[in-house]
Amino acid sequence: MIERSVTDVVTPTATSDGAGVRLRRSIATQALDHLDPFFLFDHFGSEDAGDYIAGFPMHPHRGIETVTYMLDGSVAHRDSLGNSGVIGAGDVQWMTAGSGILHEEMPRVGPRRLDGFQIWVNLPRALKMTSPRYQDVPAARIPELLRPDGGRVRVVAGEVDGVVGAVREIFAGPTYLDVALPAGGRFDQPIPRGHTGLLYVYQGEVTVGGRPVPSPRLAILGDGDLVRVQASAPARFLLLSAQPLEEPYVRYGPFVMNTRDEIAQALAELRDGTFIKGGAAASR
Ligand code: MN
Repeated sequence: MIERSVTDVVTPTATSDGAGVRLRRSIATQALDHLDPFFLFDHFGSEDAGDYIAGFPMHPHRGIETVTYMLDGSVAHRDSLGNSGVIGAGDVQWMTAGSGILHEEMPRVGPRRLDGFQIWVNLPRALKMTSPRYQDVPAARIPELLRPDGGRVRVVAGEVDGVVGAVREIFAGPTYLDVALPAGGRFDQPIPRGHTGLLYVYQGEVTVGGRPVPSPRLAILGDGDLVRVQASAPARFLLLSAQPLEEPYVRYGPFVMNTRDEIAQALAELRDGTFIKGGAAASR
């Protein structure tokens, strides 16, 4: 069993996206374009509604999955397929854009701060144009494990101690865990050899393979069979892993495709109104 080391520690870049949402971006920056198959990692969070209320008005996606996980506050969404709802504290939305959706994601002003994450997971060539699909998972359906040492693990996707996560049947075989550890707490997790692995520490500080990772930082894991995390202070982090695609890609805004022609086609379809496939969107 080979323990994974930390090959790099990334400091998030402060940026703004959508109609003016301030966020911390760790993947899809000049320094780090992607970590196959992860093509974006955003952490948004603020006490100040002015930092997020402009939201993400109607926009398209094609060729990827977008995964939104909320720690606090809420985001209202609606889309070209007729879906709408609210992603609240502890909820996850795993959205497979596939052939294409148009949607809006609008944070709501609540009594507490807004805090959450969005990641993009690339789709393989064979699934780029698959039918769009949502897995909307309320907080109560996400398994939560309490460990004897005081650790707490929410299993969004993947498997911990034989408990399978709420989001299933995703091509990349992802693991998505939200882990809280007390000072001195430990967490070991197997990750299949060859899968991309990363840790995003958003509170406190942990040590991985002897290397300290404070918050907020993204730690890129080297290859191996498992990751060993120890909290040097009370800490909270996300642990993500997935199978890399190792395919050619072209990113353009909210699209990730395999070729430039496919990007051009997406843009042409947006212009001529044929971007959304299938009957559900025809009436809109
Ligand atoms: Mn979006």
